[in-house]
Amino acid sequence: MDAGEEQPLKLYFIPYLGAGHMIPLCDIATLFASRGHHVTIITTPSNAKTLRESHNLRVQTFQFPSQEVGLPDGVESQSAVTNLRDSSKIYQATSLLRKHIEDFMERDPPDCILAHFMLPWVDDVATKLRIPRLVFNGFTLFTICAMESLKAHPLPVDYSGSFVIPHFPHHVTISSTPPKGGSSFMDPLLTKAFKSHGLLINSFAELDGEECIEHYERISGGHKAWHLGPAFLVNNRTTQDRGDKSVLSVHECLSWLNSKRDNSVLYICFGSMCHFPDKQLYEIASAIEASGHEFIWVVPEKRGKEEEWLPKGFEERKKGLIITGWAPQVAILGHPAVGAFLTHCGWNSTVEAVSMGVPMITWPVHGDQFYNEKLITQVRGIGVEVGATEWCLTGFTEREKLVSRDSIEKAVRRLMDGGDEAERIRRRAREFGDKAKRAVHEGGSSHNNLTALIDDLKRLRDCKPLD
Ligand code: UDP
Repeated sequence: MDAGEEQPLKLYFIPYLGAGHMIPLCDIATLFASRGHHVTIITTPSNAKTLRESHNLRVQTFQFPSQEVGLPDGVESQSAVTNLRDSSKIYQATSLLRKHIEDFMERDPPDCILAHFMLPWVDDVATKLRIPRLVFNGFTLFTICAMESLKAHPLPVDYSGSFVIPHFPHHVTISSTPPKGGSSFMDPLLTKAFKSHGLLINSFAELDGEECIEHYERISGGHKAWHLGPAFLVNNRTTQDRGDKSVLSVHECLSWLNSKRDNSVLYICFGSMCHFPDKQLYEIASAIEASGHEFIWVVPEKRGKEEEWLPKGFEERKKGLIITGWAPQVAILGHPAVGAFLTHCGWNSTVEAVSMGVPMITWPVHGDQFYNEKLITQVRGIGVEVGATEWCLTGFTEREKLVSRDSIEKAVRRLMDGGDEAERIRRRAREFGDKAKRAVHEGGSSHNNLTALIDDLKRLRDCKPLD
């Protein structure tokens, strides 16, 4: 055997600064470390608090430029800000970090850089160091293909309303039009990502489907997308490792759920960045009360007075748990009492629910979420739609429309009241959960992809000409 084959890879991971970005890329980093490769995650001190070093996994931090961008000390993540202006400052900070990260990498170059696509400058660094770069953008391939279809075959400029995704392997109708301005930011980043050595996808091939994978290879001229996930299924990173400290401990949540019947609890969470106005929270509260089902509902910390977002006496009626702040989501979704997940369709939340076999009630808000919804409802049939049609530019954008309590209640009842349709959806959701678990274990598609990717990176390292 070639001596080079025995030598572990040296890999630098650079996640974007936000829980929804850090969690999956650090899960993927842990996959490589668990195969014996030397992994370094590069981030800032506050974001590093959620990471645990181990034998093969190091964390390298660089001071967040708080003063330069004008953010308070310790606010270093998109999940810690509540408006677009501050979110842009986080983005600005990542450019300011470039010099420090670049110097570090030049002093001690890795075999490959695996970075978020919102750090496009990594491309120049990798070229300079003559090493491959793999890109992660947190999207699933279905969504990347849908975005590419729209880029290649755009809707008429003044068009608004529903549309069928053009030149796409599935017949998918989207009930809203992407907001103007989104693609001018996203398209150049995606174009740069397609020039990388490959994309990292935190999902499994069976969920995106062969049609989609072949379609991507065709439209990209053979660019490789590596399905390596769902990475969280392989790791034993705890809830605390995945984000802020939970306000309610895993133990408290699970012991509450233990007293409930299977599939009887609705779990509601809109990720780390969606900010609903109080009147929308009021509609949700009214709908879940009217449905009569028990629930765990995660609400953000900053809200108005209780009477502005909760019907009178709501909490005293004790039909569920309200978690203010951060919840141990994966543990909750994995509990048999949870019968459905009302979600904003962020990709992490989506793939977590799929992996746990939990059907979804979909309520997309912005970005990739509208495409993710269609994969779940129209293509895979493992969820029902709440009927959200307002596609916002960001999670911070002021909303003009409310999703009514009636639509929410109807969607909740479709899954939670039982009946043939709910049973069919639940059965399919369970099947996809099984497929997800098989994918990441020995012999499964994602497990094999990881082996192939590692071999590929070793080959590139070992044939790199000496300076
Ligand atoms: N999450 C969590 N507890 C919370 C809210 C979110 O553990 O209270 C985790 C969730 O499990 C997922 C991530 O945060 O891994 C959110 O990512 P997603 O892509 O779903 O949404 P985003 O926050 O990026 O909009």
